[in-house]
Amino acid sequence: MPSVRPKQAAACWLAELGNGDKFLFDIGSGCHERLAAQKIPYDYLNKVFIGHLHVDHMGDLPSLWLGGTVMNRLVPLRVWGPSGGTPELGTARSMELMKKMYAWDIGTRSGVIDFRGGALEVHEFPFDGVNEVIYDENGVVIRSIPAVHGLDGAVSFILEWNGLKFVYGSDTFPNKWYIEHAKGADIAIHECFLPATLLVTKQGFNPMEALMVGTQGHTSPEQFGKVMSLVKPRLAIGYHFYNDFDTEPEVRKRVRKTYDGPLDLALDYMVWNVTKDDIRVRMSAVDEEIWPSPALKKKIAPDTGSAIAFSPFTISGALGFPEVTGPIFDEINEMYGTDIEPIFKK
Ligand SMILES: [Zn+2]
Ligand SMILES: [Zn+2]
Repeated sequence: MPSVRPKQAAACWLAELGNGDKFLFDIGSGCHERLAAQKIPYDYLNKVFIGHLHVDHMGDLPSLWLGGTVMNRLVPLRVWGPSGGTPELGTARSMELMKKMYAWDIGTRSGVIDFRGGALEVHEFPFDGVNEVIYDENGVVIRSIPAVHGLDGAVSFILEWNGLKFVYGSDTFPNKWYIEHAKGADIAIHECFLPATLLVTKQGFNPMEALMVGTQGHTSPEQFGKVMSLVKPRLAIGYHFYNDFDTEPEVRKRVRKTYDGPLDLALDYMVWNVTKDDIRVRMSAVDEEIWPSPALKKKIAPDTGSAIAFSPFTISGALGFPEVTGPIFDEINEMYGTDIEPIFKK
């Protein structure tokens, strides 16, 4: 964090509610692998809320969108994200361009697999809405508040369900909206960047860069602590720094200069079980040999007529090896009583 590394993917938070609803907040580079390790059928991972359009907060969206379809998601992917200072900088425009960027990928799937999960449903909302409702379904209400980060067009989210309140800052400099509207949170997540001293010594920043990035573009541990001392959540969670044995104590020490309440400094796969009486912290079990879960509903055979054909040129180079491929088709046809023929016959 903010750059992906083996120990830590970029920003992504999964909120699972007791009613079965699941919500993804940010979908940064590297997080798709972490999500896959949780063995959740992809039909459940179809609601994504993006706080801002930095690659460490949306880099794995194409992977979840198109990869998720191949991994048996049969429902549209629904994406919520803020407008920008101009229409060109908003989420809707970004999603339109993402579809164009992946035209070839989409082309290979048309008429080949059940591609219902390739549908993309985009909900852009005004970045300057203050505590405005952007989602209200099944007793779950999600609101957005403006964030101060990068450019106009960054937001934080507040999810409320069943008397519980979850606040996710995405990236933001300390701001009045977070302090006002995160009050009463059971879980309040806010960025907590590496101290400027470590940006110089461990990341090679010059002192000017370190101060600008670490305290003006982002939120330092001391600033994070100040925010949390004003919000007073049941649990404050800091994230967005390389969390190692030698950085964690330094970050914690600095947060403690300004905040003495309940605190976690997030690691990948950390899980919080939240009820009205208790917040339990644990680490999730990871299956490194994960395969996609089966589809939740019956797949529809694709309309092969809509497949895009190869040109005669490419076909002229294909070697069908019928003596090799034929027995593979025979094996499956005998097992399943089908009559499928290879495309490349010669
Ligand atoms: Zn970030
Ligand atoms: Zn950012």
